[in-house]
Amino acid sequence: PFDVLVIGGGPAGAAAAIYAARKGIRTGIAAERFGGQVLDTMGIENFISVQHTEGPKLAAQLEQHVKDYDVDIMNLQRAEKLITARVPGGLHEVRLENGASLKARTIILSTGARWRQMGVPGEDQYRNKGVAYCPHCDGPLFKGKRVAVIGGGNSGVEAAIDLAGIVAHVTLIEFDSDLRADAVLQRKLASLANVKIITSALTTEVLGDGEKVVGLTYKDRNHDSLHQIELEGIFVQIGLVPNTEWLRDAIALSPRGEIEIDHRGETSKPGVFAAGDVTTVPYKQIVIAMGEGSKAALSAFDYMIRLAPA
Ligand code: FAD
Repeated sequence: PFDVLVIGGGPAGAAAAIYAARKGIRTGIAAERFGGQVLDTMGIENFISVQHTEGPKLAAQLEQHVKDYDVDIMNLQRAEKLITARVPGGLHEVRLENGASLKARTIILSTGARWRQMGVPGEDQYRNKGVAYCPHCDGPLFKGKRVAVIGGGNSGVEAAIDLAGIVAHVTLIEFDSDLRADAVLQRKLASLANVKIITSALTTEVLGDGEKVVGLTYKDRNHDSLHQIELEGIFVQIGLVPNTEWLRDAIALSPRGEIEIDHRGETSKPGVFAAGDVTTVPYKQIVIAMGEGSKAALSAFDYMIRLAPA
């Protein structure tokens, strides 16, 4: 069996595997797609001490760094079931889609999350060419330009407030007749001169010139009429979905489906840890996921050295 088995090969999983392997313990990492969300990212400018890099390059470096250590890498493997140990200190089991079963003394779950997409024409085509999902990451790219934020929940309204300080103009588009964000955020938003709020509106298309976004079309749900807005950027803020469908019966999840962890990264089950975007940790970012993955690995090691020899 493994001493530490990491599930997920994004920044959190890669950091966890490296920190575990550096303790000289038997470490494995299984990932559906090594690199995770980083593979879908173009420019990265907030990975501290690296002024600028690109997603695919950083993903390759993550994998190379893990390969420098004695880690059993199982890429293109999807985990579909976690069976936690029945007795404290017993082995946990992870079943893979290919039928294999992996056993480990400790597990680190780092299966990440995915941004919910609008699913409208143009969204995929202009992803990273004006269509963005992360205001902390891509906001500065739209300095002085016009953008829309899709979604009037807390994350959408926070994004609109954040972007209003950087860009020329923000249009916030909400499907319902009211914003769903906290009142204090709505008041702040309403006080900003360069923000326009459109409610009861369904975005129906991302418009582009073949190279980049030039606008969007939305349907006014009250009058069933179509309208166009000219702009350079669209931030989609309609939810970040944690990849925890396979864990529902195994460990405690928050109402949003995120893995609940304590300050050491431990889940509701002893010996099972979690890190990164898949957890309740606030702010989903690469540097944060790496820190959380490292922390989970150190916690797993700490847990293991206290186990009575089996
Ligand atoms: P992820 O990167 O999501 O990795 C999850 C891993 O788990 C993957 O290997 C995946 O294949 C695997 N996995 C999922 N389910 C299973 C399963 N059942 N079995 C096995 N493996 C599984 N952050 C920044 O800091 N700066 C940026 O500029 C930036 N730009 C971004 C741009 C875009 C377009 C996106 C989508 C995100 C961006 N982010 C950025 C956010 C950043 O990518 C994430 O915070 C970070 O990747 C989270 O790392 P993670 O390891 O927790 O999860």
